[in-house]
Amino acid sequence: MARLVILGAGIAGQTAALHARRRLGRDHEVVVVSPNSKWNWIPSNIWVGVGVMTPEQVTFPLRPVYEKTGIAFVQGKAVSVHPEGDGDSGKPYVKVELTETGKSGQEERVHYDWLVNATGPKLNFDATPGLGPQKNSLSVCTFDHAAHTSKAFDETVARMKAGEKQTLLIGTGHGNCTCQGAAFEYIFNVEFELRRRGVRDKARVVWLSNEHELGDFGMGGMFIRRGGYVTHSRVFTESLYTERGIEWITRAAVKEVAPGEASYETLDGDERSLKFDFAMLLPPFSGVGLKAFDRAGADITPSVFAPNGFMLVDGDYAKKPYEEWSPEDWPRTYQSPKFPNVFAVGIAFAPPHAISKPMTSPKGTPIFPTPPRTGMPTGVMAREVAFNIVDMIKGNATAPKRQASLAHMGAACIASAGAGLFRGTAVSMTLFPIVPDFRKYPDTGRDLDWTFGEIGLAGHWIKHLLHFGFIYKAKANPLWTMVPE
Ligand SMILES: Cc1cc2nc3c(=O)[nH]c(=O)nc-3n(C[C@H](O)[C@H](O)[C@H](O)COP(=O)(O)OP(=O)(O)OC[C@H]3O[C@@H](n4cnc5c(N)ncnc54)[C@H](O)[C@@H]3O)c2cc1C
Repeated sequence: MARLVILGAGIAGQTAALHARRRLGRDHEVVVVSPNSKWNWIPSNIWVGVGVMTPEQVTFPLRPVYEKTGIAFVQGKAVSVHPEGDGDSGKPYVKVELTETGKSGQEERVHYDWLVNATGPKLNFDATPGLGPQKNSLSVCTFDHAAHTSKAFDETVARMKAGEKQTLLIGTGHGNCTCQGAAFEYIFNVEFELRRRGVRDKARVVWLSNEHELGDFGMGGMFIRRGGYVTHSRVFTESLYTERGIEWITRAAVKEVAPGEASYETLDGDERSLKFDFAMLLPPFSGVGLKAFDRAGADITPSVFAPNGFMLVDGDYAKKPYEEWSPEDWPRTYQSPKFPNVFAVGIAFAPPHAISKPMTSPKGTPIFPTPPRTGMPTGVMAREVAFNIVDMIKGNATAPKRQASLAHMGAACIASAGAGLFRGTAVSMTLFPIVPDFRKYPDTGRDLDWTFGEIGLAGHWIKHLLHFGFIYKAKANPLWTMVPE
């Protein structure tokens, strides 16, 4: 009997666990380790952040799903990986700090034959002084953060209804943030709600971001096919902002958030600041801080994890100048080169480098987005890794056969721009491949037949359907495999 342990129950962890459980049969064990008792459909947190949804609508308890499917659940936070076991036993294990009510403070060793690290990001608010919901800005990264942000938004609207003008600042809170798409969705939903609540004329809405240009999204921007012609995502995005009267500041690294004021440095080295009444600024991401130890107890973390805490897998991590980056640098199987029974998927794996061109201010501050790992590729890589492990457990393969490189995979993103059955709208974008390939597509880096952008009500309906579809799937309800990643 083999034991597969999956760290994390987000999009990646849940996808890997359900697929592996279904294919493995009861001869083998699947164990999920995750600190929270609930699953969260994170993309809908932006709707919680404007009060259109409640936290209950974007979450559900994990334990009943695992009881139904026969997955063991350890509610706890993994702190270290011991891939060689220790002096007492050669069996690899993960040290877990339990978080379940009544057990907190206790530790458990969870032994494994196969390990998938799907721990997602640490929301690194500490990287910028004053950033984050414990300090001077807001977030929509978790459902709790989003609920808190929704209250602050209501208060801001109430002040506008009382006749005050308000400045709402939305974007990224550090020079190296990723996930611009989430902040983009949030600013559009805020702007939509301000109009719906009749206070748009009282609001100054400002986008502040580390992108070189609007529409970069951490993917270096893209050429898109739109209504029969080809344009750049910068032009498309600028027109969306202009139509909605949203101001934008790009090429900015937020250096500090004081109460009501954000200070930032621009790529040309200027130090500026902006006063705000409401600020939702995303944090940069790092790995969750797992450590690794060898059999003798020596710290081997640097050979298993990159300095940013993400896990090293089968990518090419040699430091290269931008001009020498290649699609082949990107991992394909997400297998640890040091420990072949260990994998990392979703946000937890270390990308070999950014996708957007790295830029540094004259003062040496890096100001460019780090690469996004959105839901669709996250789900696909988690499924492929689960299938590879199942094949190896069943003796059908001796090495991973399926591949899911971001350089050979497309993605679809639907960014809500306002909720409502008839008045809602969303920006729908697809791109192929995620990592541009200028050798194959010399002019645009991507296949224009599969890279397009549109905005409209249909996108909103699809986004809503995805909300219900993915929650349905994550609950392992009947025919859940019919819902694609
Ligand atoms: C506000 C917002 C909106 C977004 N909108 C979209 C969208 O519209 N479309 C899209 O494609 N993508 C979107 N994304 C990105 C998407 O949410 C991510 O791609 C996806 O969540 C990544 O999945 P993951 O499983 O790698 O990480 P996560 O979903 O973050 O899951 C990580 C899991 O690991 C657990 N964990 C953390 N630490 C430990 C530990 N030490 N031990 C064990 N478990 C641990 C966590 O509790 C969690 O269960 C959005 C992101 C945000 C923040």
